Amino acid sequence: MPKSINPANGDVIEDYAEHSDADVERALENAELAYRDWRRTPFSRRAALLNRTADILEKRKDELARIATLEMGKRLKEAVAEVEKCALGCRYYAEHGEAMIANDERPGPASQNYVAYLPIGPVLAVMPWNFPYWQCFRFIAPSLMAGNVGLLKHASNVSQCALEIEKVMLEADAPQGVFQTLLISSKKVEPILRDRRIRAATLTGSEGAGSAVASTAGSEIKTTVLELGGSDPFIVMPSADLDKAVDVGVTARMQNNGQSCIAAKRFIVHADVYDDYTARYREKLEAMTVGDPMDEATDIGPLAMRSGVEDLTDQIDRSVKTGATLTTGGAIEGKGCYFKPSMLENVGEEAPAYRDELFGPCAIFFKVTSIDAAIDLANDSDFGLGGSVWTNEAGEIERFVRDLDQGSTNVNRMTASDPRLPFGGVKRSGYGRELSKEGIHAFMNAKTVTIA
Ligand code: NDP
Repeated sequence: MPKSINPANGDVIEDYAEHSDADVERALENAELAYRDWRRTPFSRRAALLNRTADILEKRKDELARIATLEMGKRLKEAVAEVEKCALGCRYYAEHGEAMIANDERPGPASQNYVAYLPIGPVLAVMPWNFPYWQCFRFIAPSLMAGNVGLLKHASNVSQCALEIEKVMLEADAPQGVFQTLLISSKKVEPILRDRRIRAATLTGSEGAGSAVASTAGSEIKTTVLELGGSDPFIVMPSADLDKAVDVGVTARMQNNGQSCIAAKRFIVHADVYDDYTARYREKLEAMTVGDPMDEATDIGPLAMRSGVEDLTDQIDRSVKTGATLTTGGAIEGKGCYFKPSMLENVGEEAPAYRDELFGPCAIFFKVTSIDAAIDLANDSDFGLGGSVWTNEAGEIERFVRDLDQGSTNVNRMTASDPRLPFGGVKRSGYGRELSKEGIHAFMNAKTVTIA
């Protein structure tokens, strides 16, 4: 049974009943029927649906934000901003989607040659809890604009958010079956993916989940987009504006209570500024208020689940056993899933923190003496999602952009997604791109048309 538990105090909010196999069958049938019509709707109707969705999200943002904060502990302020970003994503595709998938004339053998971008059918979205609305709307907006229909299997700890998303879409007058939420366990994903009515899948989450979904989809010759974990480097060179690099570095690691795939996780700092940088960073962390995510004054709320606290504690403990030093922070005892903002230094290659993603408020620090060493260390990771580099040297910027193996490189700013730019990773961070033009093209049939 999917259970919602308030991570701030351990109280059970609700125990949801899972959808039965008959419910799932009905949803698949609805999706197939809805797709027959939705694929033929004019763009103006699709755009109107997305604009109405944005209106509702904006109108209900405080209420929706409270639900997310209760279910997964993100600070209320951040939850409101997340709902606003969903509205922005809907408006972005309502305005630009049609132009992105307009017929594309090409030179060719016939008198008319072009590529027509057509929808592919019902898409299954398997989504995580950390941005319980945004992860879903960044799939919903481009997919519906493309003429596809969507089914959502959300993470089991955010069922209320999942049901609210469906409610928002129905309130916006989405035709029945165009978007549906399934309350199912991850075991039920495989048979759904194998169903002939599902044409593709998108998954954001862990490597294990991504690999399972992609293997099944691959065996059924179905396309997938995977947005998996990351251990993004945040590189600070001697020419950087240190004040800004400290402020932004703290936000980049601690946003969303430290649970973001694109959080800055590995701080790679040049030896010339290492002591100064880490001292200032530590001072900022120690001044942060850990507490109730509903409270305006809180800087860090609880982790979303008890297992998050246990996993992070275990990764830190095992790293310390290999010689790493926890220079500030650690778990907080109690019913809430609280964890102090933490710093791990002297991290050697044998420490779990060197290779693993730490999904909580703990920054890892490394000292380097050259740009070559910074790039080598940054690339010595199985992940390749994003990264942030801090330098005012043009030559260094050029090298970072060229040599870092990651889906996005951000100079003197933190990594963040934006509907106007593609988002995704390389290596074990996944493949495919969400958002922008690439995001809407992810689930389309690029049909070649020739007319004699
Ligand atoms: P999971 O990957 O377990 O969950 C993400 C989604 O996948 C959930 O809907 C989950 O459902 C589903 N799922 C899990 N296993 C399978 C499976 N075998 N087949 C089909 N669906 C599956 O993430 P967690 O919440 O457990 O977080 C663990 C790690 O995932 C983090 O440490 C982090 O590395 C990564 N993560 C990355 C995120 C990102 O934004 N890139 C976001 C969240 C997590 P259910 O909840 O029912 O298990």
